[in-house]
Amino acid sequence: MRLIPALLFTTLLLQTALGEAPRPNILLIVSDDQGYADAGFQGSRDIVTPHLDRLAAKGIRFTNGYVTHAFCSPSRAGLMTGRYQQRFGHERNVFHDPSDHTEGLPTTETLLPARLRATGYMTGWIGKWHLGAAPEFVPARRGFAETFGFIGGGHRFRDWKPNAAEEYFVPLERNGRPVEVTGHLTTVLGNEAVNFVNRHTDKPWFLYLAFNAPHNPQQPTDERLARFAAIKSPLRQKYAAQISLMDDVIGETLAALHASGQAERTLVIFFSDNGGTPANITGADNTPLRGAKGLPYEGGIRVPFLVSWPGHLPSGSTEHRPVSAIDVFATALAVAGAEMPKDRIYDSVNLIPFLTGENSGAPHERLFWRNGGQWAIREGDWKLVRLRGQPDELYHLSQDIGEKKDLASKQPAVAARLATALAAWDQELIDPVFLGLEEHNAAAKKAPRKTTP
Ligand code: CA
Repeated sequence: MRLIPALLFTTLLLQTALGEAPRPNILLIVSDDQGYADAGFQGSRDIVTPHLDRLAAKGIRFTNGYVTHAFCSPSRAGLMTGRYQQRFGHERNVFHDPSDHTEGLPTTETLLPARLRATGYMTGWIGKWHLGAAPEFVPARRGFAETFGFIGGGHRFRDWKPNAAEEYFVPLERNGRPVEVTGHLTTVLGNEAVNFVNRHTDKPWFLYLAFNAPHNPQQPTDERLARFAAIKSPLRQKYAAQISLMDDVIGETLAALHASGQAERTLVIFFSDNGGTPANITGADNTPLRGAKGLPYEGGIRVPFLVSWPGHLPSGSTEHRPVSAIDVFATALAVAGAEMPKDRIYDSVNLIPFLTGENSGAPHERLFWRNGGQWAIREGDWKLVRLRGQPDELYHLSQDIGEKKDLASKQPAVAARLATALAAWDQELIDPVFLGLEEHNAAAKKAPRKTTP
């Protein structure tokens, strides 16, 4: 018997002897700026994602899956902490500067990987970070035992000459050391994920697989682009090709789970970090939602969202109750058998009892968003949107998913109730603790930082 299966067998035997089910692995896959309509399981006809579709068929598809912010960095800060990121001032996109000790997820927060690692989990990060570039902010200092990727908010996918001074051109790093890679970046990240899965079969693990596809720049391989020749818009053709390659390497990662005997003990979660960009930027499609990345309308914050855990959660089901990426934190700690910390306010909810049918209520009474001068609150089917300097807008999402019919004047009592709840939440938040990319560029029009959020 080879060493790894022997170790695995011993571990499983020990757990069985103790009467415990093995603690599951947690595979968290995040895409970047993927539109709500842009996956086969979301009804897309031109963007085909057979591997994600199979994951949906074996798991749960959420029609009301949200992220906590319409931009990358704050969304990931909420995801990693289980807290609305404005509670600790992470309200903007960090800009990339390894010498800046303010632009990053404040070190006063303890991240999910650190919590899991303390309970004996192996922890790995692969792909995009975007939570600060100074040494104290990088993944290895925030709880990830193994790291591979790029620290900034985006990266070239192919044909780049490494340059440490340019965010989208930095050398990829493995465990803090630059590495040379060849091939399309999405394939590189997928290969790393397969290797991680194959290397860690003896103890439970948490892998944060953070693709930067289909965020700009759209740089598909020629082979992949040719598969989507039927798409007339050149922008959308490239975007489709980028998503398709990501879907393939997700398929390879899931295949590695099966081949290594870990599929039944791995909780897989997939979503996009924010809504698709406006269509003229990447060709993304948020239909039938209103708006896009950067906005508090549904197109900015409601995303493709899947959870799968064969044998433990229903398969092939569709869930309409609103959930949030912020719930990964409590859900992961629960399946790992760890206590939720009580040292501060957490907004994360363990979704497992809601998904098994044990709890038929709603995971969240309300969900909230804030981005500078934009706010939103959702309570049941009602949603209030506030843009600074404009009257509040009120929508009934189950009757009006496209947020076309403002009911604020017809339903003043509902609008007032939501406004009161929003104001109470807003009181719990602090001001942004760092300048952020957009603010920096607004203040320094002559020398803006080149990165895109
Ligand atoms: Ca993003």
